[in-house]
Amino acid sequence: MTIHQNLIAGEWVGSDAIENINPSNTGDVVGRYARASVEDTKTAIAAAKAAFPAWSRSGILERHAILRKTADEILARKDELGRLLSREEGKTLAEGIGETVRAGQIFDFFAGECLRLAGETLPSVRPNIGVEITREPVGVVGIITPWNFPIAIPAWKIAPALCYGNTVVFKPAELVPGCSWAIVDILVRAGLPKGVLNLVMGKGSVVGQTMLDSPDVNAVTFTGSTGTGKRVALASVEHNRKYQLEMGGKNPFVVLDDADLNVAVEAAVNSAFFSTGQRCTASSRVIVTEGIHDRFVAAVGERLKSVVVDDALKAGTHIGPVVDESQLKQDTDYIEIGQKEGAKLAFGGELLKRDTPGFYLAPALFTEATNDMRISREEIFGPVAAVIRVKDYEEALAVANDTPFGLSSGIATTSLKHATHFKRNAEAGMVMVNLPTAGVDFHVPFGGRKGSSHGSREQGKYANEFYTTVKTAYTLA
Ligand code: ADP
Repeated sequence: MTIHQNLIAGEWVGSDAIENINPSNTGDVVGRYARASVEDTKTAIAAAKAAFPAWSRSGILERHAILRKTADEILARKDELGRLLSREEGKTLAEGIGETVRAGQIFDFFAGECLRLAGETLPSVRPNIGVEITREPVGVVGIITPWNFPIAIPAWKIAPALCYGNTVVFKPAELVPGCSWAIVDILVRAGLPKGVLNLVMGKGSVVGQTMLDSPDVNAVTFTGSTGTGKRVALASVEHNRKYQLEMGGKNPFVVLDDADLNVAVEAAVNSAFFSTGQRCTASSRVIVTEGIHDRFVAAVGERLKSVVVDDALKAGTHIGPVVDESQLKQDTDYIEIGQKEGAKLAFGGELLKRDTPGFYLAPALFTEATNDMRISREEIFGPVAAVIRVKDYEEALAVANDTPFGLSSGIATTSLKHATHFKRNAEAGMVMVNLPTAGVDFHVPFGGRKGSSHGSREQGKYANEFYTTVKTAYTLA
C-alpha cells in the first residue's frame, strides 16, 4: 500500500507510516500515512519561516485564486471526500458529505475575504498628521487539530491563515490523517508556493510538542482536549506567542414546560447523539422542567427506537461507531460511573454487534441525574447524555450555567420571554433557541467562554483577529 507522505518545504517525504483504521470495520485499512519526526517538524517550521516574507506580500488575487480553486475541487469531490471522512472517522455518510461541503464553503468564504482586506484611516488628534490602521499577517501559524471534524476544522484554520498571508505548519490528529492529506494535496495543486503550507502528520507528543517548543512558530491555533490546550497555553506564554484554544464542552439543553414536544425531542436527540455525540457542541446535559419531564423522557425513548446505529457507510445508518477503542472505553467507563453515582440508565448504553467488527455503542440516556455528578460535570465525548429534572426556568438557567465550560447552550421553549432571557443570560459563546446545541454556520463566529475556549473567535470575518496583527501608522502631511 502506498504511503501518503508529509509535505515539508514543498516536497512529499516520509517512509515511517501507520495505518489509518476504519472504526466501522477494524479490518479495513483506509490508508498508510507517514509520521513526522522532531527533525521533520523543525525542517517544516524553518520552511514556513523562509516562505513567509514572499507569501505575506503576495497579491490578494493569487491568494484568492488558490483558495477559490481549492473550494471548487473540494465541492466537486464531495462524495469521494465525504466517504473518506466517514470511513476514517465513523460519522455517517450524510454527515461526512455535509462536513466536506462545509469545508468547501469555508475555502470559498476566505477566498472572498482575500479581496476584502481593509484598514481604516483617521485624522490624528495632532494637526497635519494622518493615522492608518492596517492588519498584517502574524507569521508562521501552527495548526493542531482533533479527530472529530477531520475536514471542517483543518479548513476553518488553514483557509484564514493563508487568506491573511501567514505560512502554516499543520498537524492533524493521528486518528484521521486522510482528509487532511487530501486538502493539503488540493491546495498544493491549486498553486500554493513551496513552504507556505507544511503537513506534518504524527504524534502530538512528538510533532505537536516540537511546534509548541519552537520560537519560530508565531501563533498556534488548537482544537482538542482541555489538558493539551493547557500545554499549548503554557508553551505559548513562554514564547510570547499568540494562541487560540477550542477545548471541551458540557453543553446544556434546557426543555421548558411550554416547549413544543416534537421540537424538543428532535433537538435533544440530535444534540446528544448525532455524530455519535463526538462534537464539542454536543449536549450531554438535558435540563427539563418537571411539568414536561415524564412526557419528554418517554418521547425520547420512543424516538430512540427508530435510531439505527451501524456502519457509517451503510444507507439508513443514523449514528456511526465510536471513533476508536480508547474512546469507547471512556464512554463505557462513564456509563458505569453514572450508574454508581445513582443516576438511572433509562435507555441504551450497551455494546452492539454488527456485520463488521467496529466500536458500536447504543446511545445512552440517563435520568434522575443531578448536576454535581461526574457524568454532568466532565466531558465524555460520546453518545451519553443525562436528564436533570428541575422545578422551573430559573432553576434550569442556574443549572445550565453551573459548569466549568461555556461553548454552546440550547433551550426549547415557545415563550418569547424565556427565550429572550436565556439568550441574554446563558454563559456560553453560542446560544440556540429551539435548535440543537450543535450545528453552526461557517460565516459567523464560533467559540466559547470559561473553560471551553481562549482567545478570539474562529470563522467568519472575526477570524482576522487571530490571524492578523494590527499596525497603526502615523504620517506627517
Ligand atoms: P483528543 O482527546 O481529541 O485526541 P488531544 O488534545 O489529545 O484531544 O488531541 C488534539 C490534538 O492535539 C491532536 O492533533 C493531538 O495529536 C495533539 N496533541 C496531543 N498532545 C500534544 C502535545 N503534547 N503537544 C501538542 N499537540 C498535542
